[in-house]
Formats: sequence, C-alpha cells, structure tokens
Amino acid sequence: MKWFLIFLSIASGIIGCGQGIENIFISDKLTVIVQELEKETEINIKCSIVLADKLPDINDITGEIGYSFGSVNLILLKDTKINDPDFSNAQKKALIMHEIGHCQFGLDHNNDAETNGRPISIMHQGISNYVYTDTSWEENRDYWLQDIYKINEMKD
Ligand SMILES: [Zn+2]
Repeated sequence: MKWFLIFLSIASGIIGCGQGIENIFISDKLTVIVQELEKETEINIKCSIVLADKLPDINDITGEIGYSFGSVNLILLKDTKINDPDFSNAQKKALIMHEIGHCQFGLDHNNDAETNGRPISIMHQGISNYVYTDTSWEENRDYWLQDIYKINEMKD
C-alpha cells in the first residue's frame, strides 16, 4: 500500500509537470472566489494565495491587506480583512487580481485615475475601495484588467 501511494505521488508529479499544472495552494476561504475569477477572466491563477495575520510592513494602501512575493509565486492576504463581513466578494476579487498583477504578471502600481476618481487600472493602490457590489466589479473588470489581458495574450 505504502509503495503504491509513493508510486501514485511520483506519477501524478510527472503528469503534473507534463501538462504544466502548477502546484499552488489556495486558502479554503478563497477557493470559490478564485474559481469564479478564473472563469470570468479566463486567466489561470498560478500563485498560491495564503491568509496571514501579519504582512510585511510596507507603505502601500493595498499592501496593508495584501502582499505579493513574485519570485516564489506567493500572495499573502490579511486574514482579518478576508474574514471581515463588510469586505465584499467584489472587493476580494479586486484585491486578488491586484496581487496577481504583481505576483504573476510583474506589474507595478499605476495610481492614475479619471477626473471622477475612478482608477484606470487594477494596479491602483486603493483599488478595492472603488468596488463594492458584484455589479460594479463586473462593469469595471475588463477595463481595469486591460494590462493583464495584454500580457496574458502574449504568453499564449
Ligand atoms: Zn500593490
């Protein structure tokens, strides 16, 4: 039995490599949201997303609730924020895609905004403040994700 399990894990590792499946970990609390995001954006998320009670201390509005370690494909999100009932699913999606922009696509911040204050990119540091409802996320998503979509197409 033991050897069979070892064989299975080796075989699945080989299959995993061959098909380019990434070994990533997504916190249980975010698996549904991440699945929805992958479906609606057609982007395969390739960074692990882990909840943490403490994040590196940096001067970044979004960074207070999310942090990306691009070199190891790891995103940390502040667990008190993810567990906060006032932090909506739409805000979680905006936060996750902002961190994916750093972690997976190597993007820096873009704090440009329109005259009415609406950010022009998901890479705005205060992005999760500009979206609350699912409808608002759906209306803004494609506009905010333009840079990510361009890079993602180039990778295909
Ligand atoms: Zn950021």
